Amino acid sequence: MKQSIQDFTQEELSKEIKPSFRAKQIYSWLYHKYVTSFDEMKNLPKALKDELKESYRIELLKIVKIEDSIDGSRKYLFELEDGNTVEAVLLLMKKEQYHEDGTIKHQAKYTVCISCQVGCKVGCAFCLTAKSGFLRNLTAGEIVEQIRLIKKDNNIDANRRLNIVYMGMGEPLDNLDAVAKSSRIFADPNGMAISPNRQTISTSGLSSKIIKLGKMDLGVNLAISLHAVDDELREQLMPINKAYNIKSIIDAVKAFPINQRKRVMFEYLVIKDVNDDLKSAKKLLALLDGIKAKVNLIYFNPYGGTDFKRPNLKDMIAFQEYLTKRGLLCTIRESKGLDISAACGQLRDNEKDK
Ligand code: SAH
Ligand code: SF4
Repeated sequence: MKQSIQDFTQEELSKEIKPSFRAKQIYSWLYHKYVTSFDEMKNLPKALKDELKESYRIELLKIVKIEDSIDGSRKYLFELEDGNTVEAVLLLMKKEQYHEDGTIKHQAKYTVCISCQVGCKVGCAFCLTAKSGFLRNLTAGEIVEQIRLIKKDNNIDANRRLNIVYMGMGEPLDNLDAVAKSSRIFADPNGMAISPNRQTISTSGLSSKIIKLGKMDLGVNLAISLHAVDDELREQLMPINKAYNIKSIIDAVKAFPINQRKRVMFEYLVIKDVNDDLKSAKKLLALLDGIKAKVNLIYFNPYGGTDFKRPNLKDMIAFQEYLTKRGLLCTIRESKGLDISAACGQLRDNEKDK
């Protein structure tokens, strides 16, 4: 099959296509105008368009379903060319605000949560994505296309700011090369220009890959799905902890290059009667001592067939206060898109189950 044009960084493209300024033009068509065919690239000579059609294809994911949440979030189900499906979610973090005369006062703030694999190998006990097993990695082009299509579908102008979180289906560090490449493509100033500062890679803690990611120096933010403070419990929740224990993760984080103004995010999925006690909060505080960290408490989102339960608000707040009172930044993640199963860990290739 022809290689997808979205698999190329601009630098790579400029080596393939001569004269090299054409690469910049192609980038602009793809990532500013969101075109879906080479024919739409109007300022390219016909001969070049023909050549492009001969050698490349434009990666096209098919939108097979869109679900709208009452909070303004939208979940997309994409079909890949081989028929597999993945999901991505557009999260409306702040609604657009207008002046009385109808002009825009504050632009809407968006975050897009994207997938990097069909399924996942890691197999966390609480995660719905894990239930479908692992099918395959996404290519860089398939990762890039999720954002491109969502921007196009929502008429999100090329120069509007947007955050990206690699928190959809799959484990980003288990598909590091494609993920790193997609991050570079997103960041290209002649393309979508989404600064690495606005990109967050979330991992279940593959320590050796955290170190590798750090060495790549992409400038992205790091989020660690910690969820438990002792190895015994973490192994039960996340079998990967047998290979990469908590200490190895903490050591890897300490070696990670972090933007001076940023913190490493530690995600802590709170499950009722499993890890919602203050003893755990105390251990967490000790564990993160010396790290520029922030903790994000996530409500466990239940789904059919799980024994785990959503924690109480009271326990969440007590956990949060325990940490903040002792100087550790801690927020409680708002569950967005709950009504459309777009919240954390609820993404699943579920068309097949129907
Ligand atoms: N594989 C990566 C990124 C995708 S998961 C990782 O694990 O970090 C994104 C986040 O959703 C993770 O923090 C994950 O632990 C969390 N999550 C998984 N299942 C969940 C559930 N049922 N409720 C709430 N969060 C969940
Ligand atoms: Fe994979 Fe993340 Fe789900 Fe664990 S939580 S199974 S790493 S997607």
